[in-house]
Amino acid sequence: EDDSAVLSGEDWEALAEEDDFVAPVLAVVGRPNVGKSTLVNRIIGRREAVVEDVPGVTRDRVSYEAEWSGVDFTLVDTGGWEVDAKGIDRMVADQAERAVDVADAVLFVVDATVGATATDEAVVKMLRRKGKPVILVANKVDGPSTEADAAALWSLGFGQPWPVSSLHGRGTGDLLDAVLDELPEESAYGDPLPEGGPRRVALLGRPNVGKSSLLNQLAGEERVVVNEVAGTTRDPVDELVELGGRTWRFVDTAGLRRRQHMAQGADYYASLRTATALDKAEVAVVLLAVDEVLSEQDQRILQQVIDAGRALVLAFNKWDLLDEDRRRYLEREIDQDLKHVEWAPSINLSAKTGWHKDKLTNALDIALEAWDRRISTGKLNAFLGELVAAHPHPLRGGKQPRILFGTQVSARPPKFVLFTTGFLDPGYRRFIQRRLRETFDFRGTPIDIQMRVRE
Ligand code: GDP
Ligand code: GDP
Repeated sequence: EDDSAVLSGEDWEALAEEDDFVAPVLAVVGRPNVGKSTLVNRIIGRREAVVEDVPGVTRDRVSYEAEWSGVDFTLVDTGGWEVDAKGIDRMVADQAERAVDVADAVLFVVDATVGATATDEAVVKMLRRKGKPVILVANKVDGPSTEADAAALWSLGFGQPWPVSSLHGRGTGDLLDAVLDELPEESAYGDPLPEGGPRRVALLGRPNVGKSSLLNQLAGEERVVVNEVAGTTRDPVDELVELGGRTWRFVDTAGLRRRQHMAQGADYYASLRTATALDKAEVAVVLLAVDEVLSEQDQRILQQVIDAGRALVLAFNKWDLLDEDRRRYLEREIDQDLKHVEWAPSINLSAKTGWHKDKLTNALDIALEAWDRRISTGKLNAFLGELVAAHPHPLRGGKQPRILFGTQVSARPPKFVLFTTGFLDPGYRRFIQRRLRETFDFRGTPIDIQMRVRE
C-alpha cells in the first residue's frame, strides 16, 4: 500500500561513489586547557592560523592546512560550543566525536602534569568506540623532569604517549613523524559531502516535534527496533530508506533515537545532534509542530541549517491537531516569523498517521535541485544587465555603484561573486538576491552573494 521500503543497513557505503582527492584529516581532541590550541599553532608553524573550509564542514568546526616532511594534511578542531559544568565529561567527548567522525587519525591531547582525569576517560571511551588510529600526546612535558608523568599515560591503552611541550616545541618533530605513520595518503572521511550515492537527508526539529515518528513512518516500525540495539553497541548509523522508487540516506538516525529522551542537557544535545546531522546531510527537513507556537529553538535550528549552507524543506507536522484558532495564528506566523525562509518548499504533514508523507520526496527534489544548480556566466550576466538597466542602484553622494560582472563560483549551495565599482546598499543586495531566486528558481537553498569592490 505504500512505496517505502528499507534496504539492508550495511550496503550504503557500496552505493556511495568514489570521491576526488582530499588530504588526510587529523582531528585534535582533548578537554579544555590541555594545550590543543598551542599544539595546533605549533604544528601549523605559528603562522597566522589560516582558517580554511574543508568542503562540507560546518562553520563551528575549524580546520587548518598543515604540512610535515612534504606531506599535506588537514587539522580539524571543534569549537564554539558552550560547555556547562554539569555533565562536562560527556559533553567534551560528544563534541570531540564530531571532529573524529570526519578524521582519518586522532591526536588525543592530555595534560601530563595533571594526568588522566574523568573527562579524559570519557574521551577515551568514545575513541575506543570509533576505532580510528589514535596518537596520544602527553603535553606540557617541558623538560626531562616531567618525562615520568608522560610514561604514566601508557595506562590509557593507546600505546606510547608522545612527550611534548607544545609551548616550547620540545618533542613535536617526533610526534609529527608518528602522525605521518598513521595517516593514509588520502582521506577516507574528510569530505562528508561527496557527490553521488543516495541523497543525504537530516530530520531536524526540537524535541517532541515528531522526528522519530516520521522516521518510523518512512522506514517502517520494525527497522527502528533493530537499530535501537545497534545504536547502543556501535557507531551511529544512517538509515537507507526507499521513497518514491529511489533510495535516500537519512543521516544520524541512531543519534536521533539515542538523544531524544535525555533529560539533562536536553537543549545542548538537541543542538549538537542538529550540528552532527548537518555535517553529513545535503538537505534538512525541519519539522515544526503546528499545535504549538513557533519557538526560539525552532528559529535557531533554521539558522543552523542556513549557516551550514544546506538545502531546506519545512514540514509542518501534527496537522491532525490543527484547529481553527491555531490555523489563523499559524498563517500569521508563516507570514511574519518565517518570512526569512519563505524560499523553502514546505509540506503539511502528520507523522503520526502518515498523512502526506508521500509529499516529502517532491519537496526534497525541489530543494536539492536548487542546491545543486549552476548558472552559466553568460546567463547570469544577461540577468544582471537587464536587472541593473531596469532598476539601477540609487545614487549615493552623486555616485552610482555599478555591477561590472558576476559569476557563480560554486554550487551545493550556490555561491556568487559580483564585481562592483562601490559597495552596494544592503537593500539593493537583498533585491538582487530575491530576483536571482525568482529568475533561476532557487527554491529551498540558501544562496550566498559576495561583493568584490574594484578600487
Ligand atoms: P586548549 O584549551 O586545550 O586549546 O589549551 P590552550 O592551548 O589554550 O592552553 C591552555 C594553557 O596551557 C595555556 O596557558 C598554555 O600556554 C598552556 N600550555 C599549552 N601547552 C603547554 C606546554 O607544553 N607547557 C606548558 N607549560 N604550558 C602549556
Ligand atoms: P521527536 O522527539 O521529535 O522524535 O518526536 P516523537 O516522534 O517522539 O513524537 C513526540 C510525540 O508527538 C509522540 O507522542 C508522538 O506520538 C507525537 N506525534 C508525532 N507526530 C505527530 C502527529 O503528526 N500528530 C500527532 N497528533 N501527534 C504526533
